[in-house]
Amino acid sequence: MSDNMAARAAHLAHLRRAELEKGDPVALPLTLASMYHLPGEPAGFNQYGRFANPTWEAVEKLLAYLEDADAVAFPSGMGAISAVFYALLKTGDRILLPSDGYYTTRVLAERFLAPMGVTFDIRPTGSFPEGGFDGYHLVFVETPANPGLDLCDLTAVCSQAHAAGAIVVADNTTMTPFGQRPLDRGADLVVAADTKAPNGHSDTLFGHVATRDPELSAAIRDWRKIAGAIPGPFEAWLVHRGLETLEVRFDRMCASAEMLAPRLAAHPAVQAVRYPGLESDPSHNLARAQMERFGSLIGLTLASEAKAEAFINGCALIQPATSFGGLHTSAERRARWGDAVAPGFVRLSIGCEPTEELWREIKASLDKLAG
Ligand SMILES: *Cc1c(COP(=O)(O)O)cnc(C)c1O
Repeated sequence: MSDNMAARAAHLAHLRRAELEKGDPVALPLTLASMYHLPGEPAGFNQYGRFANPTWEAVEKLLAYLEDADAVAFPSGMGAISAVFYALLKTGDRILLPSDGYYTTRVLAERFLAPMGVTFDIRPTGSFPEGGFDGYHLVFVETPANPGLDLCDLTAVCSQAHAAGAIVVADNTTMTPFGQRPLDRGADLVVAADTKAPNGHSDTLFGHVATRDPELSAAIRDWRKIAGAIPGPFEAWLVHRGLETLEVRFDRMCASAEMLAPRLAAHPAVQAVRYPGLESDPSHNLARAQMERFGSLIGLTLASEAKAEAFINGCALIQPATSFGGLHTSAERRARWGDAVAPGFVRLSIGCEPTEELWREIKASLDKLAG
C-alpha cells in the first residue's frame, strides 16, 4: 500500500472528530428521516429525504476520502452503474463493455439501453484496447474482470479512449480503493459494489460512483435525486461501519490469497489457477504495475462440475454462496450462472479467517477429491 493510502487508512476512523461538539456520540448516529424541520426559506438546509440524509452524507464522506474524489452513494452496485448510464448517455450513443465482466452490466445494456437507442459492443478484458475506441461515447472497463480475473492496462485504455473522445468508467468492485486506484490512472468515473468487501459482512447491498469531474458528479447527483435511487439510511450506516475496518480486513484477505494461490496451484487436484499475484499468471506484470494489492479472489479449475461442487461443499471454512468479499471465505462454481468458464471453475473469495487454519481446511477438502 502506498504511503498515501496508509495515511488515508489511518485517518479514516478519525474523520468525524472535526465535526463533533462536546457530548456528541463518537459513533455515527443513524438518522431516519423523510421530513426535516424547515420553516421559511429552504435553501441551504436538509429539505426532503430523497434529496439528502446525514447518514448517507457520512458514508459518502468516507468514500470520498478513500477515493480522493466526490462519491455518490447508491442502494446497490447496479444502482451506481445504472446511474452512470442513465445520467450520461443519450439515444445514438455507442458504448463498449467487457465481454467477461460482471454479467448484469451487459444485461442492463441489452435489455434497457439498446431499446432506447444506446448501442453497445463487447470485448474481452485481456485484449481490451485491440480495435481502438473510435466512435464510443463511453468505455467501461473491469479489471480484474469478474469472474475470469483477466486484466487490462488502465493507463493505456484511459489515454487511448480519451484520445478518441470517450468517457472511461472503471468498475473497481473486485479491488476496492485500497487495492487499485483507477481515477489515478485516468478513469473519469469509478463505480463499485460496496455490497462486497467495503460492507464486508454479507448483510447489505450498497454502491457508489466516484469522480473528480464536478460536471459528471453533478449529473450523477441530479439523476439520483430525480430518479429516486437513493440508499436507505440504515444500509448507509452499516456500510459506514464496514468501511472503518475495510483496510484491516482487505489486508488479511489479500495476504491470505497471496499465500494460498501458489499452494492451490501446486495441489494435484487443481488443474489451473488464476490469480494476478502468481508469478506465472499471464497478467502478473501488469498487476504489479497498476494494482496496490493482488486482490482476494482466486479462480481455480477442478476436473469436473462434480469435483468442484464436492470441494466447495466439503470444506468446513468455505461458505457456498454467490457474491464475494465477505469476512468468511466463500466460493461458487460460476458455470452455474452461465458464465463462459469451465464447468469445474470455482471463484474462491478469501475471507478473514486465520490463514493457516483456512489452508488446512481447503487442503483437506482438495485431498478428498484425489482419484
Ligand atoms: C456485485 C457486482 C456488481 C453489482 O453489485 P450489486 O450490489 O449486486 O448490485 C457490479 N460489478 C461487479 C464487478 C460486481 O462484482
